[in-house]
Amino acid sequence: MAQARLINKIAKDWKLSENLRVSTVHRFQGGEEQTIIFDSVEGAGNKVAPMLDDSKPDSDAKLVLNVAFTRAQKQLYLVAHTKHLLNDLNPGSALARIIHHFQQKAEILRGEDFVDNYYAADYEKWARSLFPTPSVTQEPISGKLFTERNFWDQFFQDIKTVNKRLIILSPFVSIRRWGMLMDYFQAMRGRSKEIRIYTRPLNQQVGELASQGEVVIAKFREMGVSVIERSNMHQKVAIIDDSIAWEGSLNILSHRDTGEQMRRFEGSSAIEDIIRNLELDTENAAGNISDQKCPKCGSPMVFRKSRYGRFLGCSRYPNCKEKISLGKNVGWVKTKRNPPL
Ligand SMILES: [Zn+2]
Repeated sequence: MAQARLINKIAKDWKLSENLRVSTVHRFQGGEEQTIIFDSVEGAGNKVAPMLDDSKPDSDAKLVLNVAFTRAQKQLYLVAHTKHLLNDLNPGSALARIIHHFQQKAEILRGEDFVDNYYAADYEKWARSLFPTPSVTQEPISGKLFTERNFWDQFFQDIKTVNKRLIILSPFVSIRRWGMLMDYFQAMRGRSKEIRIYTRPLNQQVGELASQGEVVIAKFREMGVSVIERSNMHQKVAIIDDSIAWEGSLNILSHRDTGEQMRRFEGSSAIEDIIRNLELDTENAAGNISDQKCPKCGSPMVFRKSRYGRFLGCSRYPNCKEKISLGKNVGWVKTKRNPPL
């Protein structure tokens, strides 16, 4: 129910609601449609609802599935955590047999691709509409809010004032955005300013950005910009010296107009907070991709931390469980500010 409501909100916002009907299967009575998208909504961690398992007593699963699967005129999509469902469902149940049928006859699209796109575009906005999101600063939010309409003007003003160091966290990078920032960065590098970029590793850059990422990251590095690949990073942040910080939903290095917002803070205590929380003062911060390759499978190793300390884990975890423990912490700032282990 909540899911249907959220999808309706998103559809309205994207101006798709006229072409779309979103509802629970019980309310979705009759009527054919060109395209039907059926989402089982089931996820790992919970038993599959009896509603979907016709091998359970009193289940109306067959009825429900019949409504869902027989009304499409042209296209039929099944959205499902198939591994979880097949684990939990009776193998003879209708839904398990439907999944097997799709696996044999249908085109399989990987969920990560869509989820990542969605994260990139509007994740914070929708997450905020469902749950209040904690800010990366611990202080109450006091900064001034900018939309993408006035962000860039102010941001360019700000990066002209960089005295020592600019740090940008942008999960994704695009050629277009690189083209726009290149001159600024070149000028800053010419005056020996440090520029540090955190972005997702290439295999987590999505869609067309995946092919652009390699080029853009190489170009940044050629310029003397240090690019740190951080696994599954979602924060969008910019930090100018110890004086100005930006935080919000806009991917600075890949942004296209999608209704994003950024908040601007001044003052060193807010910035210290951000640096500490995001471990920007720690070279082996959790999530950062290291130079080391996995001794077992050759994939890059990722810094991780547990309550026993920091270690390197294979980036293919859980498929590869190789680990290397690390001795002492090495930080950019050798410091008390490193988070407690
Ligand atoms: Zn490995």
